[in-house]
Amino acid sequence: MEHLERPTQPLKFVSVILDVSIDKLLDYSVPEELADKVKRGMRVEVPVRGHLRPGYIFEVKSSSTFPRLHPISQVLSDEEHVTDDLFDLSLWMAKYYCAPLRLVFKIILPASVRRLVQPKQQLFVMRAKTRDELAEHCTTIRTKHPAQAVVLDEMLQVKKGILLTELLEKTGGTRSPVDTLAKQGFLVVDIVRIDRSPLVNEEYFKTKPKPLNEGQAEALAKICNSLDHNIFETHLLFGVTGSGKTEVYLQAIDKALKQGKGAIMLVPEISLTAQTIERFRSRFEGQIAVLHHRLSPGERLDEWDRIRRGDAKIVIGARSAVFSPVQNLGLLIVDEEHESSYKQTDEAPCYHARDVAVMRGKLSAATVILGSATPSLESFHNATKAKYILSPLRIRADSAAIPSFTIVNMKQEYERAKTYTSFSEALLKGIKKRVESGEQTILFLNRRGYHTTLLCKGCGTAVKCHHCDTALTFHLGENALSCHLCGFTLSPPPRICQKCKAPDPLKFKGVGTEQIEKALHAVFPEIRTLRVDADTTRHKGSHQKLLRDFGTGKADVLIGTQMIAKGLHFPQVTLVGVLNSDASLNIPDFRASETVFQLITQVAGRAGRGKIQGEVIVQTLLPDNPTIQLAAAQEYEKFFAEELNSREMFRYPPFSQMVKLAVSATDARKALEYASRLRRALQQQLADAFELHPVVPAGHAKVKDRFRYQFLVRGPSIAPINRAIEVGREEVPQPHDVRLLIDVNPLSTYF
Ligand code: ADP
Ligand code: ZN
Repeated sequence: MEHLERPTQPLKFVSVILDVSIDKLLDYSVPEELADKVKRGMRVEVPVRGHLRPGYIFEVKSSSTFPRLHPISQVLSDEEHVTDDLFDLSLWMAKYYCAPLRLVFKIILPASVRRLVQPKQQLFVMRAKTRDELAEHCTTIRTKHPAQAVVLDEMLQVKKGILLTELLEKTGGTRSPVDTLAKQGFLVVDIVRIDRSPLVNEEYFKTKPKPLNEGQAEALAKICNSLDHNIFETHLLFGVTGSGKTEVYLQAIDKALKQGKGAIMLVPEISLTAQTIERFRSRFEGQIAVLHHRLSPGERLDEWDRIRRGDAKIVIGARSAVFSPVQNLGLLIVDEEHESSYKQTDEAPCYHARDVAVMRGKLSAATVILGSATPSLESFHNATKAKYILSPLRIRADSAAIPSFTIVNMKQEYERAKTYTSFSEALLKGIKKRVESGEQTILFLNRRGYHTTLLCKGCGTAVKCHHCDTALTFHLGENALSCHLCGFTLSPPPRICQKCKAPDPLKFKGVGTEQIEKALHAVFPEIRTLRVDADTTRHKGSHQKLLRDFGTGKADVLIGTQMIAKGLHFPQVTLVGVLNSDASLNIPDFRASETVFQLITQVAGRAGRGKIQGEVIVQTLLPDNPTIQLAAAQEYEKFFAEELNSREMFRYPPFSQMVKLAVSATDARKALEYASRLRRALQQQLADAFELHPVVPAGHAKVKDRFRYQFLVRGPSIAPINRAIEVGREEVPQPHDVRLLIDVNPLSTYF
């Protein structure tokens, strides 16, 4: 017998990135028993100076330039966690957003995936015979076995089947009639792994692609060209509400699917309503996964699995859906790309999903579409510099006319009414006319609650939150003052000023949505109203129910905060009133004008989406303000040119790059001191081209008992700033209890 020599395994090595510093790669050897397991992107544990530390495999290789290497101690993730393109994206994010890789992965892999929530197994009931047969049986047994008949009634209505628990809830009975029917062969009860997809039981009408108008066809042709050539190109679809952007998205997705590619479509959380999802479901039934923040961890895991398996080729979701593990990703769409909710602002990494989408497109050689009626200045600037491909859609696809705008000077209204009033005469007339003709009105106000402040007449102090530096808002429904930053409440509201103890009772001021609703009923006792704000939409599904009720004509007027500004389509709405259009103009931030312009345009887009021309009434105390005027005239390009001019003059983005460093601590002095020392450290490293703003208290100087200070760094590029921050943080020890949040390209420089 020949002696067979055991073939020697080729030795394997890995270079590993530690959580803490992603610039350094450390090489390790791989013990034989782990050799088959290691793959790029996996989480492993490695020895570093006598301690075991977690890290990620950056590369698997067959040699290393270092002679004596420690072996990795274990593989922490058995499955390959992220695909190559997501791993590259993570590395980019960690660098660009100055965040530890660990926190980046925390977003990329949902908690349920990391902790491996068990897939849910439940009993599912389905029909075992045709609907006709069941209906016939139901009639015969109705009087003798009413409980069984009730079950059959329910089973005749469901689509494919229904969860047993859900069925029993609906029939209000026990399991025994279900079991009897199953034994007789009318129903089957089976264990299935259920897809907790929130939409499984709904039915959709199949819609067909619409023949495109010229603008749409041109835009789609350019997009298809990128898709055909598998190249990374970013398209900016710039068209008013109703110009048919969504139809272009649908047909672009269709094209991508036909090429065997997957697609991700991002929408702002707020517009992730049944209405939006329905339009996609009706075109691509069964191929869609929906991700939103109200999914339970189990539901999220199910959707994630469907995506990774390739069962769902299209992902629709809010911000973090940009990280979906879509197979063969070919198309990324960001609808309403200017939306601020795409930016994560409260914890690291402070990423912007639109920018991440563009980067992911680049890394995956995928096509990117950004769509908006009011593109962000950054994106429009990129389009004019030919970095993005611009496709304007100039007319409304549904042939509805652009609404007419009226600016109402509220100062004159107060004089006329001889008192403060929330509604101008024109607006009241307009609402009355709509009620009489059976049309609908939307009223927009950016403040929820009843009164926005409770003031002392003596010393003028507002009642503030005990934990935050902000005035409390009065909510009539709960007879309470509440803090919109931390949720603190005072009930009942105090009657005497805590500061000057003046004997006069405190006075309410400022109007919120709750009061608007009440005031409207005082003027029109018969009017039917619905209110959509954070207070009325706390429960799962309530937001969608309110919108559905409005859509089916259950109210004349919909009153709401920015929650109603986007993406809704109600053909019966012919009047939109913007009650306090200028409120945000007083915020000292270089984006204030852009925000107001976008808001007016977005809200106005809700008017006249049917056959009748819409009307928009913009109430303001600043009727001559250029932003309000240009918004009312819908002069986007003019606004854009003027705004870009001033940004260039003052070197604000997109003419500079900016990083905000926000420091907080329960001890104000500690926060201020750390911020100042960090700032000095940065100053020493950054060249003259970089400008460091002074350390100032944040717009909300205290939140949840933490004092907040911040400073801005501006310069021609981000990378040197980030390097300086890294070095600065090593030099200046961060005291215990002091937090630092690094916000690259912050949306707000004030709060
Ligand atoms: P946007 O996304 O820009 O707001 P939509 O895609 O929602 O615009 O289009 C607005 C309305 O016009 C929708 O009711 C849509 O069905 C319809 N529509 C879009 N494109 C066309 C087209 N080419 N022909 C006819 N109707 C269209
Ligand atoms: Zn508070």
